[in-house]
Amino acid sequence: MENGRKWKFQGNEGLTTASSISIRGVLNMLMDNLNQDDPRVVIPLGHGDPSAFPSFRTPSVAEDGVVRALRSGQFNCYSSTVGILPARRAVAEYLSRDLPYKLSPDDIFMTTGCTQAIEVVLTVLAQPGANILLPRPGYPFYDARASHSGLEVRYFDLLPEKGWEVDLKAVEDIADENTVAMVIINPGNPCGNVFSYSHLKQVAETARKVGIMVIADEVYGHQVFGSTPFTPMGLFGSIVPVLTVGSISKRWIVPGWRLGWLVTNDPEGIFKETGIVESIKGYLNISSDPPTFIQAGVPHILSRTDDEFFSRIICVLREAADICDAKLKEIPCINCRNKPEGSMFVMAKLDLSLLDGIKNDIDFCLRLAKEESVIVLPGVAVGLKDWLRITFAVEPTSLEDGLSRVKAFCKRHAKH
Ligand SMILES: *Cc1c(COP(=O)(O)O)cnc(C)c1O
Repeated sequence: MENGRKWKFQGNEGLTTASSISIRGVLNMLMDNLNQDDPRVVIPLGHGDPSAFPSFRTPSVAEDGVVRALRSGQFNCYSSTVGILPARRAVAEYLSRDLPYKLSPDDIFMTTGCTQAIEVVLTVLAQPGANILLPRPGYPFYDARASHSGLEVRYFDLLPEKGWEVDLKAVEDIADENTVAMVIINPGNPCGNVFSYSHLKQVAETARKVGIMVIADEVYGHQVFGSTPFTPMGLFGSIVPVLTVGSISKRWIVPGWRLGWLVTNDPEGIFKETGIVESIKGYLNISSDPPTFIQAGVPHILSRTDDEFFSRIICVLREAADICDAKLKEIPCINCRNKPEGSMFVMAKLDLSLLDGIKNDIDFCLRLAKEESVIVLPGVAVGLKDWLRITFAVEPTSLEDGLSRVKAFCKRHAKH
């Protein structure tokens, strides 16, 4: 230490460990393991941001909404802490299209992406001693954020043999008098599953029975391309109060715009009664808001984007899911029984007994990065050891190339 001086500050160790289990943390580790001498382009099948690929460019009408708002000079101001009224009204209208009741702008809180909506919810729920039920596999931001807020985490399984449905019996078993909420992600990240109407109704009834709210992560809402239609959890808001989180990041493929929302789907007014609404407002008072001009673009973005754009993206995703399914079937050590029906991910199980000297999923992904310049997320990062999470939302030609490299890798390392 310089001149023997003793500084009184130190990095918060809790944050170092929290980020080591994050998807970004693991992907950074894989990127560091790439072979710089490999002349081939790196194929990123690890993260969920296809915005760089030409097939996934957001429609110009969405860009126009933001540009017009910016150019008007009227939105250089601070936003109100809950978000500006035109944006909240537009989101209320957009989400009410799929509901049997009408959301009011007062049910909507604008957030900096779905990420901040999750942060708000978990902070609001973090009373001393409280616990929350999370899906496994899941989205690790919930785990990291809950632990950081001092909220105890308990897991229920998503069942691969039942198309990744929630193990509802487990929910009842692990909930106790300190359980406050359960989280569902639909359409699913990381599994690419879509919950049916009847399963969601059972989720609502189970949550009601144990007296907890449902947090519904619908950031992939409407991004479905299989046989199960998308059902918003808010449909069951009179059975159980639902906090819905979402954003324009995935459906409009603009994660960098950082525009999301937190919604109270609560026709019975339970969130008001229990102080949840006041608590959300209280937290937003000591937090930051999405940029005002982006918010001001929201009415235009939500009302003017034509269906042609959405159906084109759905077609691209369906084609990509098909390629993924077909290619994985050619690889003996990777098993994928559930073809994805939504979002942009699929979970596939590694059969390490067919491979020579590969210890686990992390080892597999590290070597794959080094030898084939392909990035795939090890399942352990989303709570399932010795599985892989594969993103198929990339340009179809890159996807084929990437999966062919995975196949070559597996062949090279196969046990003889
Ligand atoms: C991408 C993602 C988010 C974060 O969304 P942003 O709007 O980019 O903050 C939240 N939940 C899930 C399940 C996601 O995949």
